[in-house]
Amino acid sequence: MIFPKRIVKSTGLLLLTFFFTSCQGSLAPYQLPQGVGVTHVVLSGQTLYRIAQTYRIDVQKLIRVNKIRDAAKVPVGTRLWIPGAYRVLYVSSTDRPQRTVHKKKSVHKPQMKKRAPVKNYLKWPVKGTLTSTFGRRGGRKHDGIDIGASRGTPIYAAADGQVVFSDWGPTGYGLMIIIKHEHHLTTVYAHNSKNWVRKNAWVKRGQKVASVGSTGRSTGPHLHFEVRNDTHPRNPLKYLPSKR
Ligand SMILES: [Zn+2]
Repeated sequence: MIFPKRIVKSTGLLLLTFFFTSCQGSLAPYQLPQGVGVTHVVLSGQTLYRIAQTYRIDVQKLIRVNKIRDAAKVPVGTRLWIPGAYRVLYVSSTDRPQRTVHKKKSVHKPQMKKRAPVKNYLKWPVKGTLTSTFGRRGGRKHDGIDIGASRGTPIYAAADGQVVFSDWGPTGYGLMIIIKHEHHLTTVYAHNSKNWVRKNAWVKRGQKVASVGSTGRSTGPHLHFEVRNDTHPRNPLKYLPSKR
């Protein structure tokens, strides 16, 4: 009489074990594709098409996954789930006029007056090693230069100007400062560990404004430094003295 009972019990346990193992077995591969991905926060001028293009994902899939009703109207600040992406990428904005390859004579001349880089106008913002230059980098644009330096290294204002931003920047930039200067120029200092000046403050060329850090999308302590002419990113090296 006791014997059959034990059989029933152990059979039940065995079935239970089977149920669990089979559950885990089928769930694991199903959850994996959903788990890999990043959240991209939509910034001004970023279209769904450009975001999809940058992440190399089908735009229809992006619409489907994020349950977007009107693809033409994705408000700034929308958090998009990018399935399959491993890191947040820089998406160029349609706000900026498309740069066209133009002939020197016709289009270039009138722009020269206003947009010619003023060599030596800026001072090197940090003592360190140039680790990345301006321009294309592995298929995406790099709007500035990277200067590697140890955490806490002082960051100086590259020229006299007014602080127009001192806070956490858009995705990836971390703690950031923007200073407005003469000649339609602004300079951007990103990934800081600490900002020493507040918005609206006037700063002198060479004044300490922040400390080097690795906040935001950064693999190690460095300064990401941008120069913008009327919001157009320019090569900082054209404004900095050749000698550091
Ligand atoms: Zn950078």
